[in-house]
Amino acid sequence: MRQAAQALLKQIFGYDAFRGRQAEIIEQVAEGGDALVLMPTGGGKSLCFQIPGLLRDGLCVVVSPLIALMEDQVATLDELGVAAAALNSLQSADEQREIAQRVRTGELKMLYLAPERLVQPRMLAFLETLPLALFAIDEAHCVSQWGHDFRPEYLQLGRLAELFPQVPRIALTATADQRTRDEIRQRLHLQHAAEFVASFDRPNIFYRIVPKDQPRKQLLGFLAERKGDAGIVYCLSRKKVEEVAAYLSEQGYPALPYHAGLANELRSYHQKRFLNEEGLIMVATIAFGMGIDKPNVRFVAHLDLPKSLEAYYQETGRAGRDGLPSDAWMAYGLQDMLFLKQMLQNGEGDERHKRIERHKLDAMLALCEETRCRRQALLEYFGEHLAEPCGHCDICIDGVQTWDATESARLALSCIYRSGQRYGVGQQVDILLGKQTDKVQSLGHQHLSVFGQGQQHSEQEWRTIFRQLVARGLADVDLDAYGGLRLTEACRPLLRGEATLQLRREQHQPARSAARGSAARDLVRSDERDLWEALRTLRKQLAQEHSVPPYVIFPDATLLDMLRQQPTSLSQMAQVSGVGARKLERYGEAFLAVLQGSAPVSAARPEDLRHELASLARAGMTPTQMAAQLSLSEKSVYAYLAELISAGHLSLEEALDLPDDVLGEVQDAFLDTDGDLPGVAQVRERLTRKVPDGVLHCVRSALAAELLD
Ligand code: ADP
Ligand code: ZN
Repeated sequence: MRQAAQALLKQIFGYDAFRGRQAEIIEQVAEGGDALVLMPTGGGKSLCFQIPGLLRDGLCVVVSPLIALMEDQVATLDELGVAAAALNSLQSADEQREIAQRVRTGELKMLYLAPERLVQPRMLAFLETLPLALFAIDEAHCVSQWGHDFRPEYLQLGRLAELFPQVPRIALTATADQRTRDEIRQRLHLQHAAEFVASFDRPNIFYRIVPKDQPRKQLLGFLAERKGDAGIVYCLSRKKVEEVAAYLSEQGYPALPYHAGLANELRSYHQKRFLNEEGLIMVATIAFGMGIDKPNVRFVAHLDLPKSLEAYYQETGRAGRDGLPSDAWMAYGLQDMLFLKQMLQNGEGDERHKRIERHKLDAMLALCEETRCRRQALLEYFGEHLAEPCGHCDICIDGVQTWDATESARLALSCIYRSGQRYGVGQQVDILLGKQTDKVQSLGHQHLSVFGQGQQHSEQEWRTIFRQLVARGLADVDLDAYGGLRLTEACRPLLRGEATLQLRREQHQPARSAARGSAARDLVRSDERDLWEALRTLRKQLAQEHSVPPYVIFPDATLLDMLRQQPTSLSQMAQVSGVGARKLERYGEAFLAVLQGSAPVSAARPEDLRHELASLARAGMTPTQMAAQLSLSEKSVYAYLAELISAGHLSLEEALDLPDDVLGEVQDAFLDTDGDLPGVAQVRERLTRKVPDGVLHCVRSALAAELLD
């Protein structure tokens, strides 16, 4: 069995060796046993059911919660030469009938389905007539009522155990906690399944958490080292998402907003672009989450604090699914903490629920103020022990300085106490520094004994101290008193002189050095850049021809291996990791030609492309003509034009040749509102004639650029 599995791994997937426990899992399922697989994102779960599905006779049925996930997997299998299809509600009756027919004849090997579809009586009856290889239940944590991805339809999947007792079932998830694990077993009737728990460490992710100072500048400093990389920037509010996306675009970073307030089409358009284009930054609320299977997300940046370590782990985990070096970066400050506490307080749920949430937030805060290796701390929270500091996080690389803050903390706490436990950090700092502000005078705070007693620290340092006091639970925020600080039980020993306190010393480094210690930018050496870009360009062209995302043609890891091995023949090309038989046949020659420098590859980099596009536009080409010339979709041409206009590199007149009356109507529609410029979707509805969205985006960019001036 192992040998057969190994042969498939090489022949179809192009890989030389199984990772972690893949081989064991495959053996268990291929031999007819059930399995419960807990493996982090990027761990390689798909192979665990795809290979047994190929080894066993009959149809492999895969349950997946999202159409996007199914489509991605089907496209990937298709490229590998494995006959797969997904049934979903968007297909016509004819399409569905055709798939059913291919299943009946045994031509299809893998069928992807949403759970609600699988449990329909007709579908179950249909499946009962077929030889079945196995059932794979992906994202199995969706069965957990306590998780945030709960899908009621998943509960019905337990019936498969009774209906198909002979068919092995494998449930897979990247959610590790014991409670979810127990729930999956129980609800999916997997009591006897063998359990495979992988380490949840993501060794290719570099963790860094910096004190928030000037968050946007800090973010730019972080991004400066990652030009051309794809990434996600998480923000808490929709408004901030919009602002940050606009700001990054202005600064020359192609960024798109994503949040639940956007029209459905625009949201899915942005998601599609993120998947299909390289080097886009998605600025998003947590609405942007499951279903993001893009393997080469090179960084995840948080401008706001997640509310738990579970959320932090999951969100940062979207970086580096392909196993290549990636970054998790976060800027965190006192305001974040206050805001989340406020949200928690005002949120729904009973006291017990709120208490749990508070504990989760405290664990998140503790990670921010951590003085040990971040990875050790993070994994420990999930019940895993890492013997040594990881050497691949900010604390391991930069070290942490702590200082004896006992006296300063006492002073800060007594300031809170003496001013009546009702004022916020700003006022406390003013008192300690002895500032005669209007507020100080009107409240008589200049008469407090602590007034002016804190000159040994700067305002910035005091803020850091207060933040750490709150994060460590020595002071708390009184949410009924507008964020006023008050003392907690926990601070008594310190005030009584029975305890001392060590706090982190913050190095307020220049923003740029935020990138220090990260490996992501070293992925490709500078002397390899040109060839790397040429390979990526070819991949992009092929992806467009096949209407799939670039990573479906080859993941970055495969291109990188190609770059390093420099194969000169098809047989050498077959040795490259990720080049299976089918892909060798389809793409081998084309990539060999690029490696040998004999293939003309058009304008390689996005910058060059923009440049070329601007010249063509000035020369009077229409978007359709430019799309043909540059082998881009028209959508992308419009998107580039809009960007060029936003950045002031191209005028609207140069970009598009619009009749005056059309232009007039569109402009009026945008400007006919108070306040902010409306979005494209909104304006589309107001127009009497049909104008392509791309044109609307361009006009909007031009207006936005004018309004800013
Ligand atoms: P998961 O579903 O666990 O997040 P995937 O199944 O998508 O992870 O796998 C992540 C990446 O790792 C994919 O690009 C996959 O092709 C690759 N991969 C999986 N198993 C192996 C292996 N044994 N050797 C090399 N690459 C692998
Ligand atoms: Zn570390």
